Amino acid sequence: MSKSDKTIEKFDSNVIHSYGRYPLVMEHGEGRTAYDEDGKKYIDLGSGIGTNSLGYCDEAWADAVCAQVRRLQHNSNYYYTAVQADFAERLCRSTGYSKVFFGNSGAEANECAIKVARKYSFDKYGKGRHNIITLVNSFHGRTIATLSATGQDVFHNYFFPFLEGFINVTANDIADLKAKLDDTVCAVMLEYIQGEGGVNALEQEFVDAVYELCAQKDVLVIADEIQTGVGRTGKLLAGDWFGKKADITTLAKGIAGGLPMGACLVNEKLSGVLTPGTHGSTFGGNPVACAGALAVFDRVDDEGFLSEVQAKAAFIREKLSACAEVAEVSGIGLMVGISLKTKKAGDVAKEALDRGLLVLTAKDKVRLLPPLTVSESELGEGLDILIGILEE
Ligand SMILES: *Cc1c(COP(=O)(O)O)cnc(C)c1O
Repeated sequence: MSKSDKTIEKFDSNVIHSYGRYPLVMEHGEGRTAYDEDGKKYIDLGSGIGTNSLGYCDEAWADAVCAQVRRLQHNSNYYYTAVQADFAERLCRSTGYSKVFFGNSGAEANECAIKVARKYSFDKYGKGRHNIITLVNSFHGRTIATLSATGQDVFHNYFFPFLEGFINVTANDIADLKAKLDDTVCAVMLEYIQGEGGVNALEQEFVDAVYELCAQKDVLVIADEIQTGVGRTGKLLAGDWFGKKADITTLAKGIAGGLPMGACLVNEKLSGVLTPGTHGSTFGGNPVACAGALAVFDRVDDEGFLSEVQAKAAFIREKLSACAEVAEVSGIGLMVGISLKTKKAGDVAKEALDRGLLVLTAKDKVRLLPPLTVSESELGEGLDILIGILEE
């Protein structure tokens, strides 16, 4: 029995089987490369689902995190910390938002967004205007509220009753949106690029219609940028590609370089909606996570960083367009969906693992979410393995 096999046996006999895991035991990582317990090397083009935004154990990030963990690892939100103040200021300044609430995950960031939207509407208009429009094929998280928000029937099972108050509109269907955006609605929640739903970017026309109709009715726009945010698409926020700023933007995944953090950003109009006692989180705004997040923003805000992300994205698309098995490449920036002509995405991901390459899938597509710091030579090496599999 290999070391990995022993770990897998121990793991599976003690951890609830709520994931379909690949038989890979990660031992350590360096830059864009992961190593398993048996010493095998993997080029990682998935970055822990877009979470290790600076790759593995980036020096400046690790130094900041280690220094903070030796200074103060946690304090309750009844007190202040300078590091949370510093990161909140940086985040608001970089994104142009007025205020932020910190949680620890994407689902928590979206829970906060839902609460802000409903309370804003309740404070101003009273009861009965609590519905939130979400899109078919969206993904907003795994808590009961965010599952209820998620516009995919496969997630609406077992855990009945789900939370009421979510209405699904077909993405890019303006007539459907108009028909459902009535006086019971307080917000429209969307991903500019649906990630788990298959790496599908919304059409500009539809996004324009959402903002226009919402503005007319004082309905809030919530942008779930948990996967698309923090430089993933080659802009700080994906909304920048659409020329839009939502009333609320949620971030998580890559925000702290691999430490748990979720952020719910609100504009000026919403900055006073949550008052003492109306929301909270024990770990939210944890100093160590904030130190990691500051290190991520130090890099992402760097002159030229995002244009490099865009150049790498163009490189990926150019390489993939030359592959005969590739039907279409979707997404923006380093959020890449690959539709295949004949092969199954799941089989490709398994074969890639065997050959030392980590890729993701989303619905029937192969999905790449490389670390933002990936180099062209690392990308080239990884894509050669992938294209080798696709062209076999
Ligand atoms: C991953 C994801 C979430 C959920 O984030 P968690 O940290 O797993 O709770 C929500 N929305 C989108 C768009 C995501 O990609």
